[in-house]
Amino acid sequence: MLCILCGKEEATEGRLCKSCLASTISLSVPEFMDITQCPKCGSVMIGKSWYRGDLIPRIAKAIKKVIVLNNPGFRLDISSVSEDIDNGNVKAHLKIFNGDTLLREEDIVIKLKITKNSCPTCNRVSGSYYESILQVRTFSHEVTDVIGEIEQFATKFVESAEGSSPTSFISKVVHQREGVDIFLGKRSDALKLSKIIMDRYFSNLKVSKSLAGMKEGNEIYRYTYSIRIFNLKLGSIIESRSQKFVITGIHPQTLYVLDPRNMKRSVLKRSDVFDENWKILDPSGNLKKFIVLSSGHGESEIMDSVTFKTHTVKLETGEKELDLIQIDNNIIVPQ
Ligand SMILES: [Zn+2]
Ligand SMILES: [Zn+2]
Repeated sequence: MLCILCGKEEATEGRLCKSCLASTISLSVPEFMDITQCPKCGSVMIGKSWYRGDLIPRIAKAIKKVIVLNNPGFRLDISSVSEDIDNGNVKAHLKIFNGDTLLREEDIVIKLKITKNSCPTCNRVSGSYYESILQVRTFSHEVTDVIGEIEQFATKFVESAEGSSPTSFISKVVHQREGVDIFLGKRSDALKLSKIIMDRYFSNLKVSKSLAGMKEGNEIYRYTYSIRIFNLKLGSIIESRSQKFVITGIHPQTLYVLDPRNMKRSVLKRSDVFDENWKILDPSGNLKKFIVLSSGHGESEIMDSVTFKTHTVKLETGEKELDLIQIDNNIIVPQ
């Protein structure tokens, strides 16, 4: 069968001959491609990631993404890619196939638009640049596990943000006697981290700013996000203004407490806890394991797993064991 377009050559695919099929190709090659280069180490950001060393395979991939072929049935093959970043261009040889049939070949040159921006590694190494500090402290003014947990979480958070934003990085971490200071390259990362911490822990945030210098006639501020985390255990006892409380429940928004003199339960808000001066009378927790002997009608008979003493508590459960707070002879169900 002859080609329906020229009527001369033998038709191959789509009832057209090879040269007529090739003439239907339209190729859109952008004149420019944006890349970011670190002025210190020469690393290049292509797409959302930074690369060092052999850039050719990365550039080939990036070129493939920006070239548009009018017919998605055709296959684009890119070979002999060469980059000359210093002179601001990349060259490549394109081949367009229909199945296994080569239809067209073309050499292209794309100019590079290079933005200079310090890479995360260089920013970290210099350690000097930061926009904000995330200060993590505890209610007890001690370094406990929660400080390490937050430090790890913050590191992961910033690493995952780094790819999409070269200004996301931790420039240094300073361990203090009372907690940890995390210096962040991007102010909004400290804000985001504070919000996540507040959603997960009963904690309190104070933000302050200090003048760091001037830039183009504007004042530049550095922000400190100081977050204090309630780190006591269930059953701990705190006191303020001669008012004693047993901690009976720790939730991100609320602290549940009980007055041990009258066994009355109440709740404390963030401001009650973090704006007052509390004395920690007993940080040990007083949480004990009890074996459930029977449960029903809204109560359970339980036995102390050490002393074998039995008690009745107002709680129905399907569990075989319960962790309960014991203060003197009173058994308190956590909230
Ligand atoms: Zn033809
Ligand atoms: Zn660099």
